[in-house]
Amino acid sequence: MAGERILIVEDERAVARGLEYALTREGFQVLWADTGQKALALTRSEDPHLILLDIRLPDISGFDVCRQLRAEGKRQPILMLTARDEELDKVLGLELGADDYVVKPFSLRELVSRIRALLRRAYGELSLASTGSILSFGDLTLDLERLQVTRRGQVVDLTPIEFRLLRYLASNPGRPFTREHLIETLWGYESDIGSDRTVDVHMRHLRQKIEDDPANPRWLVTVRGIGYKFEP
Ligand code: CA
Repeated sequence: MAGERILIVEDERAVARGLEYALTREGFQVLWADTGQKALALTRSEDPHLILLDIRLPDISGFDVCRQLRAEGKRQPILMLTARDEELDKVLGLELGADDYVVKPFSLRELVSRIRALLRRAYGELSLASTGSILSFGDLTLDLERLQVTRRGQVVDLTPIEFRLLRYLASNPGRPFTREHLIETLWGYESDIGSDRTVDVHMRHLRQKIEDDPANPRWLVTVRGIGYKFEP
């Protein structure tokens, strides 16, 4: 999944602009609402993948926006932006249906890691409900619902992380990803695994399992100076 739509709900223009810049650079599509009512309207019309929700807004509060969206059955992850301890107490104390929060001032790097982790979690959940959950490339088939890979009709025995790595690359065919991006996306910000070598090791195992000639891969191609891509 790439180019996910993120709705920024923030009335301070400078803050919103900073977030927009950082998230666009990370490859996300960005929508912006500067009031709670606009946030509700944009969520209904554009169906963003994730909502970054400030609490202090000029009309209704971020708490109200969150409650309202959940009451309407909207399931996308909501990451609350809180400015003060008293707000944080409320975020933690209320059953709002928010998925996570960050306290201002926060680092953009941390924010992006949280966003990726939430998207990964939600994507896993939402993909179960979606149709068209089979990816087919030649003799290789990924069943995203059963979390199963077959090659020439035979089930390939993959570890969970190998499956997630293959699913991510094959869901974005032809698009190269850096090792750092893959670590952030697949392991998340809570991980301290963070070494490029980790990706290389899993990639080697994955090639041994799905490639005819792992030394000259057909599907999982090294992109020199960048990382890896899935060649459709
Ligand atoms: Ca605000």
